[in-house]
Amino acid sequence: MDLRFSPEDEQYRLKLRTWLEANMPTEAAPSDQDADFAFRRAWQRKLYDGGWVGINWPKEYGGQGATLLQQAIYAQEMTHARAPQPANGLGIGIVGPTLMEHGSETQKQRFIPKILNADEIWCQGFSEPNSGSDLASLQTKAVLDGDDFVVNGQKIWTSLGQYADWCILLVRTDTDAPKHRGISYLLVDMHSPGVTVRPLKQITGNSEFNETFFDNVRVPKQNLIGEMNEGWRIAMTTLTYERGISSLATQVRIKQQLDGMIGYAGKTRRNGGTLSEDPVLRQDLAQAHIRVEVMLLNLYRGITSRLRGQPPGPEASLDKLYWSELDKWMQELGMSLQGPYSQLMEGSEHAVKGNWQYNFLRSRAGTIYSGTSEIQKNIIGERVLGLPKG
Ligand SMILES: Cc1cc2nc3c(=O)[nH]c(=O)nc-3n(C[C@H](O)[C@H](O)[C@H](O)COP(=O)(O)OP(=O)(O)OC[C@H]3O[C@@H](n4cnc5c(N)ncnc54)[C@H](O)[C@@H]3O)c2cc1C
Repeated sequence: MDLRFSPEDEQYRLKLRTWLEANMPTEAAPSDQDADFAFRRAWQRKLYDGGWVGINWPKEYGGQGATLLQQAIYAQEMTHARAPQPANGLGIGIVGPTLMEHGSETQKQRFIPKILNADEIWCQGFSEPNSGSDLASLQTKAVLDGDDFVVNGQKIWTSLGQYADWCILLVRTDTDAPKHRGISYLLVDMHSPGVTVRPLKQITGNSEFNETFFDNVRVPKQNLIGEMNEGWRIAMTTLTYERGISSLATQVRIKQQLDGMIGYAGKTRRNGGTLSEDPVLRQDLAQAHIRVEVMLLNLYRGITSRLRGQPPGPEASLDKLYWSELDKWMQELGMSLQGPYSQLMEGSEHAVKGNWQYNFLRSRAGTIYSGTSEIQKNIIGERVLGLPKG
């Protein structure tokens, strides 16, 4: 395996770095959630004007048709620069690519252009109160009535629901068919009568996701993606995009946090010495360094096998399981380093500077969304290791 990037790829890195130096927002991201969303929407428009959003999308849809290595470089550079996340993350990451693969020409022309410039924000209405890991058991129902589907039911964990203009919605359209075969995939206007979005407050203090209710919501038939009752296959495309290349950005983020922890341990004194002289914390920091580097090498291994023509497979579950569990462990280590100060949130005059507490609380979510750790282990056991089904 050759771990170096080619001169052309390094050129690409330089071009992006130069653009970021000239265009990164000079002001800090607002702490208020709504203001932060508006800030990231404005940032996405700037990225769009510069041609730096949806870089992996084909050129005909406004992307750059970037190679896999360019995508890797993009993820690394954006994170190195601490660039804000574009507001329409789900639109860019999963909705656009799904529409390109399964949408009709009319649907593509109607919906795709407004994703990249953040004119229309998207959310994902898959999970329900009783259907998460077992997604195919979903109960939200849609019945054809003339030229419309009439949708009734409830979704939960709808990220960005409070800001969204549109939703990719999985609904049951055949209650008699086996559960995977009676599902359809709709595009729903979130401003339709009968849609209610209720933000849920999380342990971090933010309301990242919502409960979403559909009460006799009329959805025009032309907003069905693919064929009726064929939605499961299309949902699988969406979920494949959800576990994409972004792990590289996560690796850089975790490494930056580790560097911050090592810096803190080197200058903070407790029990007569610095934290980095403490034999237990010292071992933990070394262990963290090793794990973060192993993550990078594993990600490079995945990219190398894709470059050799192998399609993305269930190995993506290894990356997802690895980074989310590593993140949780690392944030706990951060709390151990702070000792009693770990109980103070940013804002308190005695709190250690940085988002340590937020990161600690937020890291719980990583082992749940996009498939929980247990589900990833099942996939690895059955489809990577070939173990018998449990
Ligand atoms: C921050 C965040 C954002 C999210 N955003 C969205 C969104 O925008 N749109 C959306 O549709 N969903 C979203 N989700 C939902 C997410 O996909 C689900 O939470 C996830 O699939 C798990 O489902 P559940 O919460 O119903 O848990 P359950 O499926 O009820 O699982 C409960 C526990 O049982 C375990 N378990 C379940 N089945 C098995 C099994 N077969 N073997 C072993 N253990 C098992 C699980 O691992 C878990 O520990 C989000 C979740 C989070 C945390």
